[in-house]
Amino acid sequence: MKNRTRILAALALMGAAGMAQAAGNCTISLKGDDAMKFDLKEATVSASCPTITVELAHTGKLPVTAMGHNVVISKTADMAGIARDGIKAGAANAYVPKGDARVIAHTDLVGGGQKTKITFPGKALAAGGDYSFFCSFPGHSAMMKGKLVVTK
Ligand code: ZN
Repeated sequence: MKNRTRILAALALMGAAGMAQAAGNCTISLKGDDAMKFDLKEATVSASCPTITVELAHTGKLPVTAMGHNVVISKTADMAGIARDGIKAGAANAYVPKGDARVIAHTDLVGGGQKTKITFPGKALAAGGDYSFFCSFPGHSAMMKGKLVVTK
């Protein structure tokens, strides 16, 4: 009985440590500018986060029609296909193909001076998988992309 209590206490401690670690990696915060760039080339999140928050701030001045930015999260292998189909989906769909299972998460499209954010469950990602974040505005994904590292 005593041993069992000790094991439970140890498990509780491990759980608390796991949560504290996850809490530091549950937000992806990106800035996009008028030079068609994100401020990060790589971001790290934890698949054990109940909720992952993606924040995007457009620090430029150009309007959304000329220099719109969003953040799309997908497997790296799906990025080019989503970007291509996003252009077909057009401005009316903010350049994201509708109901596309390859899109794990995406923010709204914003213009200069605007901010947006979304949340999605960490369990949508697998630790160690090959993921990317990118902007699906036509022509932007060649430059506006980065690696999304997913930890446990
Ligand atoms: Zn963009």
